[in-house]
Amino acid sequence: MTVALTGGIGSGKSTVSALFAALDVPVIDADQIARRVAEPGGAAYPAMVALLGADAVGADGCIRRDHARKLVFRDDALRRRLEQIVHPIVRDEIGKAMGQIDDPYCIVSIPLLLETGSAGEFDRILVVDLPEDEQIARTARRDGTGAEDVRNIMLRQADRATRIKAAHDIVDNSGEPGELHARVQQLHGKYLHLARQLSDNAGPGAQDSG
Ligand code: ADP
Repeated sequence: MTVALTGGIGSGKSTVSALFAALDVPVIDADQIARRVAEPGGAAYPAMVALLGADAVGADGCIRRDHARKLVFRDDALRRRLEQIVHPIVRDEIGKAMGQIDDPYCIVSIPLLLETGSAGEFDRILVVDLPEDEQIARTARRDGTGAEDVRNIMLRQADRATRIKAAHDIVDNSGEPGELHARVQQLHGKYLHLARQLSDNAGPGAQDSG
């Protein structure tokens, strides 16, 4: 069973992912994959360099992320073209990674799940939810990013109501970090149960509905 984990910037996706990983649940991280495919030798690297130009490549051959970020920040068309290169490759890599998992279920952390129209590829959607003011405050504390910049990023992300509507399960992260443990434990139990049901239904004795 595949569980997509999503939420806005600073909502707590990484924190929740780490709690699932601590329970030995395999976690596939779309951001990590996106960084890997953009490295020299990665599947997205040649097309990214062709699009962003030689100036975007540092002395070590790596794409300078801060430079790329600045370029796309002021050029929406460029950002879309970059996404058209990166998203399908990341999607492919996620598919491959999911195919290699033997565990009852896995978590796939995808910040832009709804924005990239990939929600239908997963059995369940788990949303980490936080009021927007608190997203801004926590992101500022984590990265030192100004409120205005965080707001700009949030404008390009699905809004809170859209995410909640798409969710099968919600983690409310407005409380203390310590409260997350119990919630993740509870979801883990639920997912193991659901995964067993899924595999029973798909087992050799199951009816084939064609
Ligand atoms: P995301 O991966 O969704 O961007 P993070 O998991 O990095 O979000 O969380 C954003 C920041 O908020 C991090 O610095 C994290 O340690 C902190 N954080 C997460 N959950 C809580 C919480 N319940 N209370 C206070 N801070 C939190």
